[in-house]
Formats: sequence, structure tokens, C-alpha cells
Amino acid sequence: MNTSKPQAAASSPALTLQENGENTIQRISARHAEVGGIPINRLMPSRQRRTIGAWCFLDHAGPAQFAPGAGMRVGPHPHIGLQTFTWMIKGEVLHRDSLGNEQIIRPGQVNLMTAGRGIAHTEESLSTEDTLHAAQLWIALPPEASACAPAFEHHPNLPSWSTDGCDFTLLAGSYNTHHAPARLYSPLVGMDLFSTMGADIHLPLNPEFEYGLLMLEGQAEINKQRFAIDELAYLGHSNTQLHLQLSPGSRAILLGGEPCTEEILIWWNFVGHSKAEIAQAQHDWEAGNERFGAISGYDGPRLTAPPLPWSGL
Ligand code: MN
Repeated sequence: MNTSKPQAAASSPALTLQENGENTIQRISARHAEVGGIPINRLMPSRQRRTIGAWCFLDHAGPAQFAPGAGMRVGPHPHIGLQTFTWMIKGEVLHRDSLGNEQIIRPGQVNLMTAGRGIAHTEESLSTEDTLHAAQLWIALPPEASACAPAFEHHPNLPSWSTDGCDFTLLAGSYNTHHAPARLYSPLVGMDLFSTMGADIHLPLNPEFEYGLLMLEGQAEINKQRFAIDELAYLGHSNTQLHLQLSPGSRAILLGGEPCTEEILIWWNFVGHSKAEIAQAQHDWEAGNERFGAISGYDGPRLTAPPLPWSGL
């Protein structure tokens, strides 16, 4: 669930080169918030950065500890124009949606929900669960796919490999010879990196992609600059490799994609390419329109959208 103000995505600024010839790394710090009773750190959208490729929302949830039964609980709410992408690190969460899907996501797994023209869902920690650590992302759908049919995918098995003391899990897109199964509508990549003993690695990058790297545990040095947990390093585009030194016990998520060229509007749980489209979705949700369907099995009230920030629509 997103409570931020509507924000237009700006196209990526050109990178400035430092005197030593190295690209400047933009350091983005998190805003603290709460989603469904769980403390989160939100990295995107922010004033400093709206998107990385089509990735348009990035919450780092937890790590949180709670009494069994007191975990995350997010009631029925709608989405349009985006894919929600969940990467579970610790804990177990039950997803229900208006297509009738009921799916537990466990550590090492991805849930991908394509909202398209409209879907509603709920998320709740299992009643026996006492921990949650996850990355919750949104991917903006391009205009030609933004009204596609809603869909849900659960991916329990992802490509993974280890080199030079680093364990890689490919979450989305392709990397080297590896391909993740999530159905995508834009060229992008998502990858989890974890090192038990510490690692010093050079990662090949696609110069047509822009990239960001978020520390989820521990710390790292990127091109000799230190980044701590919940700091997003925006690397820009035109890079052919990344020199990364992970401290022992560190975990990072690498996100990349072709820079977005069209404007993206984000309001509450809606992503759109016009204010009218978002206002219509808001109206349809408030009216209980069948566009968003119904969720069975969840015991609790549906969420209400805050008032639209625009008048005259
Ligand atoms: Mn949601």
C-alpha cells in the first residue's frame, strides 16, 4: 500500500563524470513508514528518484519481529497499471486476490501480480509467524499493456548460482545466461546478492540499462564508496560493470532497466499515464465496481483511498 503524493517520473538525468572519470553515484536515503503494521523503509518513489527502468516503487519491509498473530495485515485494496513484485527473505505471507488466488510466499520465492486494468488483493503474515523481511516492488506497465488482463504468478524456483563468495538469485529478467520466469512487459532486471564471508566482485552491466543497488543487510563498497543498510545507490546508465565489495553477512538487491521515456503517475495504489485514468480507478473502487472483483476468505474491512489531490476531474 502506498500513501505518497502523486509524483511524475522524470527521465533520467545524464550522469556527471567526476575528475577521476568515475560516474557519480547518487545516494538515496529511505523514508520510514508503516505498511499493514510493519515498519518499512521506502526508497522509491522519492524526490531524488522516481524510477529505475520500469521499477517505480521500492519498499524494504522489516526485518521485523512480532508476536505470532501480530504480523503484517493489509486489507483488500485495488491496483491498476502496475505489477506488484514481492521478494521474500524471511517469514511467510498469505496472498489472496480477486482472481481467486490464495498463495503463501516463503523465503527465496517471488510473487508477481499483474494488475493491468484492475485487481484487488490482501496480504497477511501467517498466524504462526513471528518475523518478516521482504522487498516489495512495483513495476510500471508501459502504456500499451497498462489495461491488460490481471494475472498472478508464484515463482518458488529461481535461477541461482555462486561465484567469488557471492550467492546470486535472479529475481526478474535475464543476467548472463540466466533467465527468471516472471512475465515482464519492459526490459529490466532484478537480482539478489548475498555473501556469508564477504566478496569482492566485478559485475558486468548492460550499458543501455540504468541501475540501482539497495543494501538489505550489512554494508558494501561500490566503486570505493560505502553504502549502509537502507541506502540506495543509483548508478545511472552507460556503465559496463560494477565493482562491489560486500562485507560478511551482507545482502543487496540490484535493480536495472531501460530508462522510462513516458511520464508515470503514481497515486495511492494506482499507476497510470493520465490523471483521468487514476480518478476513474479511484471512483470505481469507491463505488464497488466489479472491475476490481471480490476477495473471499479475508476477515476485515477494505481500504479506502484518500481524497484525490486534483480538482475538476
Ligand atoms: Mn498491494
